Amino acid sequence: MAQQKSVLVVEDESDLAELLCYHLENEGYQTRRVEDGERALTEATRQPPDLVILDRMLPKLSGDDVARRMRRDDRTSNIPIIMLTAKSEEADELVGFALGADDYVRKPFSIKLLLARIEAVLRRDASAAATREVLTGDHIQLDRGRHEVTVDDRDIGLTATEFRVLSALMAAKGRVMSREQLIETALGRGAVVTNRAMDVHVASLRRKLGDAAECIHTIRGVGYAFRERRE
Ligand code: CA
Repeated sequence: MAQQKSVLVVEDESDLAELLCYHLENEGYQTRRVEDGERALTEATRQPPDLVILDRMLPKLSGDDVARRMRRDDRTSNIPIIMLTAKSEEADELVGFALGADDYVRKPFSIKLLLARIEAVLRRDASAAATREVLTGDHIQLDRGRHEVTVDDRDIGLTATEFRVLSALMAAKGRVMSREQLIETALGRGAVVTNRAMDVHVASLRRKLGDAAECIHTIRGVGYAFRERRE
């Protein structure tokens, strides 16, 4: 079996928490259990789980607050959250999503449904993580998680801007990006960078990439594209 996934169950109704852990463990998950919002944050930060099942109504710190704080902390911002909600108002569910829950399940729920949701969220997270973390093209490997670029396994030092530009171009998978798009994607909407400045960043990036820079094509009058060489 693949490596066990760990689930942090945050639920103050101890019967329900126990039942959840029992079924999750039967399905091959590792579980941890906490009963209030503060402990949830401590546990999630101390030893980040693969997924959090988070009740909304909790002592000390509400589920909403836990989700909001998890999203703000680098150590926990990518952990998927499934929220358990006893309230039925649709507006509440939307708030849950806005706070950063990946999915919600309304109480009372069937264990089968919850398990299916957990699987779906973990699957989605795995494919997101794959595209999030490492991009490869020809001789270049870009690791977003570690902020590292190698050419033929040799580290090259890029500035933060060069790194983002390369990352955006590689993620576009051959699509042409205009200078404006590149500025917006790489540096964020509203960045004060001229098209000419972007050309300077690209030129410097190319210099550092050496031969591998052939992957970055200038599309005259438009912008740039990252395209692998056919060998
Ligand atoms: Ca509760």
